[in-house]
Amino acid sequence: MNGSGKASRTSYDAVVIGGGHNGLTAAAYLAKAGRDVLVLERRHVPGGAAVSEEIHPGFTFSVASYVVSLFRPHIIRELELARHGLEIIPLECSFTPQPDGRYLLRGADPHATRREIAKFSPRDADIYPEFGLAMTKLARFAKEIIDHPSPDPASRSPRELMKLLRLGRAMAARDDELRYLNVKLLTMSAVDFLSEWFESETLMAPMSVSGIIGTFLGVRSPGTAYVLLHHYMGEIDGAFRAWGFSKGGTGGLSRAIASAAESFGAEILTSAPVDRILVSGGRTAGVVLESGDEIAAKAVLSSVDPNRTFLKMVGAEHLPGEFTAQIKRYKLRGSSGKVNLALDRLPEFSCLPGDGPHLYGDIAIAPDIDYLERAYDEAKYGDFSRRPYINIVVPSTVDPSVAPPGRHVMSCFVQYAPYALKEGPEHWPEKRGAFGDAVVDTIAQYCPGLKESILYRQVLTPWDLEQQMGLTEGNIFHGELSLEQLLFLRPAAGWSRYRTPVRDLWICGSGAHPGGGIMGSPGEMAAKALLRSRRI
Ligand SMILES: Cc1cc2nc3c(=O)[nH]c(=O)nc-3n(C[C@H](O)[C@H](O)[C@H](O)COP(=O)(O)OP(=O)(O)OC[C@H]3O[C@@H](n4cnc5c(N)ncnc54)[C@H](O)[C@@H]3O)c2cc1C
Repeated sequence: MNGSGKASRTSYDAVVIGGGHNGLTAAAYLAKAGRDVLVLERRHVPGGAAVSEEIHPGFTFSVASYVVSLFRPHIIRELELARHGLEIIPLECSFTPQPDGRYLLRGADPHATRREIAKFSPRDADIYPEFGLAMTKLARFAKEIIDHPSPDPASRSPRELMKLLRLGRAMAARDDELRYLNVKLLTMSAVDFLSEWFESETLMAPMSVSGIIGTFLGVRSPGTAYVLLHHYMGEIDGAFRAWGFSKGGTGGLSRAIASAAESFGAEILTSAPVDRILVSGGRTAGVVLESGDEIAAKAVLSSVDPNRTFLKMVGAEHLPGEFTAQIKRYKLRGSSGKVNLALDRLPEFSCLPGDGPHLYGDIAIAPDIDYLERAYDEAKYGDFSRRPYINIVVPSTVDPSVAPPGRHVMSCFVQYAPYALKEGPEHWPEKRGAFGDAVVDTIAQYCPGLKESILYRQVLTPWDLEQQMGLTEGNIFHGELSLEQLLFLRPAAGWSRYRTPVRDLWICGSGAHPGGGIMGSPGEMAAKALLRSRRI
């Protein structure tokens, strides 16, 4: 890794813009295939939104993303990431405290989970395993889609039509019930979908939030049921719906990919912001850094979001008008923030005091459906939620490397924090403190001693995510995972295959199929598509 901002050469087979986990993955595959690759990362540290940093002495925060599940197992094998230090620690359970002193604790033991759900609804306890099975079957089908470039129904190429036919056949081979379920998932809201199965809001509320993460929608908005499936597709060691902590924080995963890429010969340059992509005669021949240095390349891969790549680095003058119009319409609309806390002791929940497995998994502040919908109401009109949905993890309970002995890090993912404040996004810095207070106050309702235990607080609004991490409008997935911008429509109709209207410019970040989350797929599939093209 080179932090000098100066590359060792002036010309490469491929230059990758952005050293997030997807850019690094693309670089690793290209270098493994014997190509000369340079990664240019704007920040002093690679990882992008999958980064660990010692923000307070002795405390390592997973600054943005905090749990891993969607990362494709075949990438771990093909890049030998375990050899490069990747270790995933499974999350033990999902804990939902209630304001009335009750709680729901779902974990790996089906009997214990059944007893827990039965506290709220014996009927739901009976149905829960059946639901899990149906979602797992759907997720296995969806895996076919996320692990391959998306077939385009508008294409007339016989190869594309064959792919569509194969998918259609795979769907037709499912039983009727699953096919109906699939259509419902594509069209319904997370709450309506779940209500067809369950009756207890204590169960449905924490389940429904998977449908809204990273979108500017509420749990009752149509289309959110699909995103729920997106979060079921994760797997660890073949176990679907399994989430885990990357040892050392999510940056541990990025470091492992960076180490693999370097072992194959890739060069990674940090503190090297790219100013623009050189385009002439409809093709790219390299990039210009903010320092003014020019780097020539046979191919350029951008892992930064489509808005930034095309509208800022390429420029509309080099793009077809219809394509530019699609990129301008592409929805970013950041809706999430993050609060990271350094604590001098374990958090103590009044409904379940003391240490225990409930602190080793994820904790959802999502007491009921109306609570979540009200949180969305405030965001709809340009304000952050006073009582937000919060997903909490305390990784130091299972990974001692991230905090000093006896101390802890608490990571709080928060929704909603709309980028588009009614006063304008540039007013976020004035509201940052109040937003952080709302988050801490909300958790303190369940954890009365929390405020006294805070040694340090890091608050990231969507404005901060944009300024610090380069995420346009603070969107955590480089664009919402809503149906109209997924599959063959991501990031624009006709351009879901990592190629772009500029010859030799490819996209390889979360704005490409299959989308956001720590998956590695866009990076892997873009690199493989470029190698297949024989352009380098
Ligand atoms: C707060 C938050 C919480 C999240 N939680 C989770 C989670 O728990 N689990 C999960 O799976 N996903 C989560 N996500 C989503 C996930 O982290 C992202 O989708 C994923 O990490 C994006 O990876 P990427 O490589 O595509 O892009 P990025 O990580 O955004 O990488 C792009 C890189 O490009 C760099 N860059 C930008 N501009 C330039 C430039 N001009 N020149 C050079 N480099 C540039 C950036 O610095 C960055 O390093 C979360 C995201 C956020 C923000």
